[in-house]
Amino acid sequence: MNDCVLTVENVVKSFGKFKALDGASLSIPKGSIFGIIGPNGAGKSTLLRIVTSLAHPDSGRVTVNGIDVESSPKKALAGTGAIVDSPAFYPDLSARLNLDILSRGHGKKYRARREELAEYTGIAGWMNHRVREFSLGMRQRLAITLALLPDSSFVILDEPTNGLDPSGIVDIRNLIRNLGADLGATVLVTSHMLGEIEKICSNLAILNHGQIAAEGKMEDILRRSPVTLIRTTEPGRAEALLKETFGPRIISLKLKENEENVLRVETSDDCAAELNETLVKNGFSVSMLENEPDRLERIFLQLTGGESAVRNEVRS
Ligand code: ADP
Ligand code: MG
Repeated sequence: MNDCVLTVENVVKSFGKFKALDGASLSIPKGSIFGIIGPNGAGKSTLLRIVTSLAHPDSGRVTVNGIDVESSPKKALAGTGAIVDSPAFYPDLSARLNLDILSRGHGKKYRARREELAEYTGIAGWMNHRVREFSLGMRQRLAITLALLPDSSFVILDEPTNGLDPSGIVDIRNLIRNLGADLGATVLVTSHMLGEIEKICSNLAILNHGQIAAEGKMEDILRRSPVTLIRTTEPGRAEALLKETFGPRIISLKLKENEENVLRVETSDDCAAELNETLVKNGFSVSMLENEPDRLERIFLQLTGGESAVRNEVRS
């Protein structure tokens, strides 16, 4: 567990009779960009509040860098920067003054870091502007700057792309991706937007009704039931050949609806390359072979069985 920045063990948190967290456990490897996905109300923010000592669990244990957050919150969270829910900025003060006040930063070294980070997050030209003038995306960048200011090696961001327009989402996505690469930070990010998390994160936990339904490396979770789309000549004959060759490794194989000559192959393990090889060797021409998009959404639905719930969240 030494190479884990955060460990959450069996955390329970109730509000009255309602269990917002019902025995949640996870561990976040150093250097990962770790995503927690779950529909609204799954308990994501509650978990982050407990991790950052803004709330306290009924039972269970949280450590950051091996230090218990409940008994030594200051020490445990010394290198952690967090934005849980939307941070409240002073609208009539400049971005720079907001950073100074909210981070209680001072000193030459701090000021240099503040300006460097503003450059990095793309708000350098806006530091003298009042926060009132900031778009949602700019506020999000300011919030991320604030989270990074205490020389954070662990950055926690709760729904950082919430409410942003598509180009704002891309900007924040790139920023988060680069946090690890450029600053060597470990990042914990939550979202109810599955596609976002699939694009950003190296590791993933799925939170549903206060429990972790799955946890692991993104690639391993996505590999759980791979679906390959193949466009080929004579799909009927191809279907028979693949069924015969791959036997029980094929979970389902059918013509994709609304597409011409495209087979949709769901397999028990990743065999895209072998599927291709088999077809080509037997004289079929393969003009397209790709993983079906929105894989995470499909896996999420399989794990949680909450189709309607998720659809609604994605739309909102
Ligand atoms: P998420 O961030 O995944 O959308 P939250 O952690 O905010 O979910 O909330 C999980 C559940 O706990 C929700 O049903 C919410 O209404 C409830 N909840 C959260 N905070 C409180 C609170 N302070 N008092 C009562 N219920 C709460
Ligand atoms: Mg939330």
